[in-house]
Amino acid sequence: MEGDEGDRLDDPRRITELIHWTTLALRLPTARIDTVFQTEDSCRDRLSAVRWPNGVTCTMCGSQEVSDLSERSFFRCRPCRTQFSVTSGTALHRTHVPLRVWFVATDTVIRAHARTACEYHIPGRKLAQELRRPYRGAVRLKEIIVADAGVSGPGLLRESICVDDFSLPTDIDPNTPTHAWWLQNRWRHKRLERGE
Ligand SMILES: [Zn+2]
Repeated sequence: MEGDEGDRLDDPRRITELIHWTTLALRLPTARIDTVFQTEDSCRDRLSAVRWPNGVTCTMCGSQEVSDLSERSFFRCRPCRTQFSVTSGTALHRTHVPLRVWFVATDTVIRAHARTACEYHIPGRKLAQELRRPYRGAVRLKEIIVADAGVSGPGLLRESICVDDFSLPTDIDPNTPTHAWWLQNRWRHKRLERGE
């Protein structure tokens, strides 16, 4: 679909989407996501650091007097006795999907969106194939990821895997078609470097 972007850049909403997703794609680590986060523990620690940058906090009362019940899988709040995990109260709660799958799926969805800035670009069937998950499950994952990582989403998954940073040249005005073009160009280079 490359080459269509010129037409789309007349639409301010399209520009915002394109800038959003391409910025995320450029912030993905250069190495494959499943080599950066190799275990459930490493994913859990990362989610925890993003969700609670100042330390684990009770999801019910906000206390930080929290006991670790089983190697960071579950916590218990001492004042209110609530038991919770890093995914409690988030879109990932009770999905029974391993965190590593969430991370890889988010990486896949961000890359697909950056290519076309089309909200539902990656077909569910393709995501299901890539993740080796059932079709319905893959479609549900994609919906949750797009809601989290989108322009106005809370961004838990997005911030967990977008670990790199880069700066925009000072002569480029943010949120303009030039900004979108610069990002797309840089993203194309990064994909070439990765052999994609
Ligand atoms: Zn509490």
